[in-house]
Amino acid sequence: MKKNIFVKNLSNKNPTKDITLDDRKNKLKISTAKDNITIDIGDGIVFGKKNIPIIAGPNGVENKKLMIDVAKQIKKNNLKIIRGHAYKPLTFPYRSKTYKETQNIGMDWMDEIKKNFKLKVVTEVTELRYLSRICKTADILQIGSRNMQNLELLRIVSKTNFPIILKRHFGASLRDFLGAAEHILVEGNKKLILCERGVSIPHTHRDTSRFALDIQAIPALKEICKYPIISDPSHASFWAPWVPSLTLASIAAGCDGLIIEMHPNPKKSAVDPLQPLNFNQFKKLMNNSKKVAKSINRKII
Ligand code: PEP
Ligand code: MN
Repeated sequence: MKKNIFVKNLSNKNPTKDITLDDRKNKLKISTAKDNITIDIGDGIVFGKKNIPIIAGPNGVENKKLMIDVAKQIKKNNLKIIRGHAYKPLTFPYRSKTYKETQNIGMDWMDEIKKNFKLKVVTEVTELRYLSRICKTADILQIGSRNMQNLELLRIVSKTNFPIILKRHFGASLRDFLGAAEHILVEGNKKLILCERGVSIPHTHRDTSRFALDIQAIPALKEICKYPIISDPSHASFWAPWVPSLTLASIAAGCDGLIIEMHPNPKKSAVDPLQPLNFNQFKKLMNNSKKVAKSINRKII
């Protein structure tokens, strides 16, 4: 008996970081099962196959005009999914004077946009009390990095059976990330999309860059997990000039989708104004993304 424990521990030198065979068998049974998972959200949009869907839009659903302008750009670039949060978590409790959560009215605008532009909607669920309103409009529910281990939220959002984007917490190991994913999967919802969005490291290269995109997480997760993995270079870098390189690198690394923030006038963005691309920058990035995707036999949609 003692001998077995010793051998097991030797093969698990760093139990908080490494995903062991024991984890895969007993703790991460569903997330690391071998079957390939694809998530079809309708209108030809499938995550986890050849296509790489782009989820684009501003940080917050600030006003209706902003969302209409963004929706038009998404259409112009032949893309299909808009994002924007009407309910928003913030790192600090103070809000800029120009920003307030638009909540239900923001969701009503998203509803109009969804119908008028025939776009799919991604938005964040911060609290369970907003869930039923969000489910009337959203096509994919996002659980933000700050809520990655909010277990009650994971469990109840899973039960809606909506597709879910689970963002990795910026301090979470892949083992903890998949542990959170398992909480969703065990409820029976298999429409799970994992999102790498940058991790805290001691040096992030400039003071406004809070996180470093863990590109390596993409192939590392793919090695053991068959759920689609998308990348969010905007929240990782917090700095628009770096978003194009990180987007292209994510595609090259094998991501199954991207979240990219865009805004008609980034400086005026009520939240995180250093982060979104303007419409020209976005268009240029989409053109370059198509080329990189094509070179590895994939396609931006
Ligand atoms: C977001 O997508 O707007 C967001 C807040 O992301 P994260 O939870 O990764 O910070
Ligand atoms: Mn944001």
